[in-house]
Amino acid sequence: MSHVLLTQVLRDIHLAETAAALDTVRLVAISKTQTPAAISALAHAGQRAFGENYVQEAAAKITVLAPLALEWHLVGHLQSNKVKQAAVLFDWIQTIDRPKLIPLLAKARPAKREPLNVLIQVNIDHDKNKHGCSPDQVAVLAHAIATEPRLCLRGLMTIPSLPADQRGAPFTAMRDLYQQLQANYSTVDTLSMGMSADFQLAIHHGATLVRIGTALFGERTSPPPSAP
Ligand SMILES: *Cc1c(COP(=O)(O)O)cnc(C)c1O
Repeated sequence: MSHVLLTQVLRDIHLAETAAALDTVRLVAISKTQTPAAISALAHAGQRAFGENYVQEAAAKITVLAPLALEWHLVGHLQSNKVKQAAVLFDWIQTIDRPKLIPLLAKARPAKREPLNVLIQVNIDHDKNKHGCSPDQVAVLAHAIATEPRLCLRGLMTIPSLPADQRGAPFTAMRDLYQQLQANYSTVDTLSMGMSADFQLAIHHGATLVRIGTALFGERTSPPPSAP
């Protein structure tokens, strides 16, 4: 089952990326609420990168699945009291949205590991209920990240609040911000936007990484362990 869905999603990504004449778009499989067995099945079908929303939930799975040497992304809000754990567990943190996290993550990243890849999460349509920094804070956060050798600034991430079919404008605004950032930092190569309902549209607007859960694993049956 899992490899059928994976093949479909990869085909749809490929069609969208061809239409947009872009470089390869990376797929991160969002595995929140999924069991290690389901993740392992997708890994054996060839998927290497997985994303989780909650540090606690991820910790158990990452430990059990360590022999598979998968790549793990944190895509949920990062609380300060989870920073130490997150800096050890994950390869990527996609949700940096305030200055305070930056020195804490840098300090907690073990010296023997690769620098931690980070994305700045942008609240592109200024939704009061959403996490993410405002677009005009990106430059300050990027500068702070770039001064930390234990962190590697890879780009930007967003979850627009508008309905999926109205996300063209926020995605375009993100691409503009991303291009400005790329002009200033040579390590920036990742624009993370697009989920099951809107990844083709996101790729059309320049996404280089899409985060897909439902289209790969089916509908989530259990709610996430703790609501954000
Ligand atoms: C759950 C989640 C996704 C995946 O959503 P689907 O609609 O299931 O593809 C992507 N990004 C983030 C931040 C999420 O929380």
